[in-house]
Amino acid sequence: MSDSPVAPEPSGLTRGLRFAPSPTGYLHLGHAFSALFTADRARETGARLILRIEDIDHTRARPAFETALYEDLTWLGLDWEKPVRRQSEHLGDYQSAIDRLHAKGLVYRCFRTRADIAREAVSAPHGPGLVFTGAPLGEGEEAERLNRGEAFAWRLSLDRARDFLGEAFDSLRFIEEGAGPLGERGYITAQPQRAGDIVLARKEIGVAYHLAVVVDDALQGITEVTRGCDLFEAAHIQVLLQHLLGLPTPTYRHHRLLYGEDGKRLAKRNGAPALRDLRLAGEGVADVRARLAAF
Ligand code: GLU
Repeated sequence: MSDSPVAPEPSGLTRGLRFAPSPTGYLHLGHAFSALFTADRARETGARLILRIEDIDHTRARPAFETALYEDLTWLGLDWEKPVRRQSEHLGDYQSAIDRLHAKGLVYRCFRTRADIAREAVSAPHGPGLVFTGAPLGEGEEAERLNRGEAFAWRLSLDRARDFLGEAFDSLRFIEEGAGPLGERGYITAQPQRAGDIVLARKEIGVAYHLAVVVDDALQGITEVTRGCDLFEAAHIQVLLQHLLGLPTPTYRHHRLLYGEDGKRLAKRNGAPALRDLRLAGEGVADVRARLAAF
């Protein structure tokens, strides 16, 4: 585990784009679309191209998938800055961000399990919904539960965040240069309340997705986030975290998703060919681009 200084910009370029896959399976055509979208955009705009390995979920990330990922991306013609940032090697960076939020009184320990929350949501008077907002326990009860060794998650308190930011909370916004799933574009008012009090860290996984992404995007000088529009909602939360941590907000360029014949998002299980299989079958990047153009 090592805390890392801000990465130097050896190329002297001031714009930064990233492709940030999780090594939890072999890359398929949907990933190729996203990787080439990012690489093309970096080339067109004269930006650094950064590859980031999002492997904080050690229960799912596998070294073999990471190795295959480098091979597949090289085969696609991508050339990214080295060394590659692997999130699992920088847990200290994420912990210090959580510590900063803690010092500002913005996080609390939540002892509810996912099952508790699902049960409460079903019996809530306004009907089912999994948006959870809670509050810190009293000191006595918290100490008792900690003594009993009960598992907890650190959650971000929306109420505290609202108090902390004051009026700025209602005018948080970001620029969408691509499109959200409903065609959202331009200046978007961030609505982090749609997600409730998000989990920032769990016992088994020291940091959750949103916090790691926000810390890394800032550390790596990412000026434009390119990714699938399934992550559009994530921007609403990430903008709040950026403000609470005093980090810059990049622009966002969410791209369309590719769908299989079953109308579902392209995935291995609905027949999306793995890039390594295409590679081993002798296809080249031109063939992949032709395949992508057909979607
Ligand atoms: N690691 C995420 C994924 O593979 C992408 C995160 C992001 O682009 O913000 O879906």
